Amino acid sequence: MGDMEISSDIRQNLSAVKSRVEAAARDGERDPAAVTLVAISKTHDAQRIAQAIAAGHAVFGENRVQESEGKWPELKAANPDVILHLVGPLQSNKVKRAVELFDVIETVDRLKLARALAREMAASGRQLDCFIQINAGEEPQKAGILPGEADAFLKVCRDEIGLPVVGLMCIPPADQEPGLHFGLLAEIAKRSGIVGLSMGMSGDFETAIRFGATHVRVGTAIFGPRAPFTPMPD
Ligand SMILES: *Cc1c(COP(=O)(O)O)cnc(C)c1O
Repeated sequence: MGDMEISSDIRQNLSAVKSRVEAAARDGERDPAAVTLVAISKTHDAQRIAQAIAAGHAVFGENRVQESEGKWPELKAANPDVILHLVGPLQSNKVKRAVELFDVIETVDRLKLARALAREMAASGRQLDCFIQINAGEEPQKAGILPGEADAFLKVCRDEIGLPVVGLMCIPPADQEPGLHFGLLAEIAKRSGIVGLSMGMSGDFETAIRFGATHVRVGTAIFGPRAPFTPMPD
C-alpha cells in the first residue's frame, strides 16, 4: 500500500466511524455532540496519526506512556488543540511523565495512583480530567475497581484526595454481552452523580452509545489492524 492510499483510508475510516457514532446517538435520542470519539492510535506511528489530525480529528488515546513519549511531544507542539487520553495502565513511577504529556487519564484504578496523580497535578499546576477504571466483569487479570467498591472509592477520590473525577471507564470481558457491563457502569456513575462514561471500542461502540457512553475509544476501525505481536493492555 502506498502512502496516499493509507492517508485516504484514515480520512475515510474516520468519517465512517463519525457517521456511525452520530447515527447511534440519534437512535438513542441523544445529542451526537455529547459523544466524544477518542481515536486510539497505539502502535501507529506519528505519520499516520498526523494524517488523522490533518483530517480534522483532535482527540486521541494511547495505552503506554513510553510509546507516547516517542511520538506525541512533537505532534502536540505542532497541534496544540489536540487532547490526549491515557487509556492503559499507569505505574506510579510514570505519573510525573504522564501528567506532563497527557490531558486526560482514563485509568485511575487504585488509591495509591489517585494520590500520586493529585500530588503531581498540584505540583505541576496541570489539572487533568480523570476517569476511574471499573473492572465491570470482575476479571482477576484485569485492572480496575470492583463494582462493589466503586462508590466508596469514588467518594475517597473526590472528597479526600480532591482528584478531578469526570467519569468512569471500563473494558468488558471479551466473551460476554458488553451491554450488561455498559449498563452496570452507567448505573454506578448515575448514583455517584458522575457524567462521563468511557466505554465501547471498535466492536461495540454503538451498543455503548445506546447505554449512554460519552466517550468511545476506537482504534482498529480508524487506523486499521495493529501488528499482531503488539501486547494488549491486560
Ligand atoms: C486498544 C484499545 C482500544 C481500541 O480498541 P479497538 O478494538 O482497536 O477499537 C480501546 N480501549 C483501550 C483501553 C485499548 O487499549
